[in-house]
Amino acid sequence: MQQLSSDNSFSRQVLNWFHLYGRKDLPWQQNKSPYNVWISEIMLQQTQVKTVIPFYQRFMLRFPSVLDLADANIDEVLHLWTGLGYYARARNLHKAAVAIRDHHGGEFPQSLEEVIALPGIGRSTAGAILSIACGQSVSILDGNVKRVLARYFAIHGWPGSKPIEQQLWQFADDLTPDKDAGLYTQAMMDLGATLCTRSKPNCDACPVQQSCLAFAQGSQVELPTKKPTKNIPTKSTVMLLPMWQDQVLIYKRPPSGIWGGLYGFYETDNLEQVEKMAVLLGLEEVQIQQLTGFRHTFSHFHLDIQPVVMHLQNPPKGQIGESQTLWYDLKSPANVGLAAPTAKLFSTLSKTL
Ligand code: SF4
Repeated sequence: MQQLSSDNSFSRQVLNWFHLYGRKDLPWQQNKSPYNVWISEIMLQQTQVKTVIPFYQRFMLRFPSVLDLADANIDEVLHLWTGLGYYARARNLHKAAVAIRDHHGGEFPQSLEEVIALPGIGRSTAGAILSIACGQSVSILDGNVKRVLARYFAIHGWPGSKPIEQQLWQFADDLTPDKDAGLYTQAMMDLGATLCTRSKPNCDACPVQQSCLAFAQGSQVELPTKKPTKNIPTKSTVMLLPMWQDQVLIYKRPPSGIWGGLYGFYETDNLEQVEKMAVLLGLEEVQIQQLTGFRHTFSHFHLDIQPVVMHLQNPPKGQIGESQTLWYDLKSPANVGLAAPTAKLFSTLSKTL
């Protein structure tokens, strides 16, 4: 096992590098309040910095404080999240904001246990908030840090497996300094995002190259070990797009499950069912038009989508379907969260208007 020098030179080298080359002008670095750091950390999960920036700016403009977020309608929160994906993150943000308002007097809690107890906040995100915003010496282990540590200590084995993860947490804890922990956290994230990158790590510019075991062994690109591959199944669906002039019918999906709480299209299993569905939805005289199908991939399955536009020949009458429905006006979009394929199909339809 790699020995650390007694003055913890790893953290000192990383901090010095960050001081000289690290990114310090990201929007969430300007005012490092727990709320700002929390929102940015959640948005940055599985999403790149350059994608997150405009979403973060819009979100903070609309919800500048945790109380603004807690008091907001979930539809509006999901609307501002549309395009970022992984919508459970937005639902949990809202739930956690409500918990902070109702159980913590509107102040972000300051202990690791209390922060982890909030919906959607794991140990690493809690560590990032408490170190960056509160200066506490708490470690993190996000994807970037896992990669740096797996390489630096030449740890073989998939970091998502429990024993490897525990080993990496131990290293993360040992390396986090008592002083400047917030800067160290940002430095490690930055090192992973800008130098110790997935495919072509820039070891020549790395501050810890001299003691990096993967560099010494030439095993950087093999590490961290990839997740064992598994074949994921393919499912298919027909999405129904009843359309009257510039408006398309969508409904609010149940709060849990795929695209929970977002608006999406009614669906059926196959094209033979389309006319039956029109009758069930109370739609009279529709002209059917198939659009080009496409695939949407989730982490655990592929979904082949066949969209079908049902052009209404007469204005819709009364309540359609049983759920919370909305005639979404393509020229004047409502502020609601949309499932990714819904947003994609709206964009396709808008081009035809
Ligand atoms: S030397 Fe290369 S592999 Fe090692 S930590 Fe630095 S960038 Fe990553």
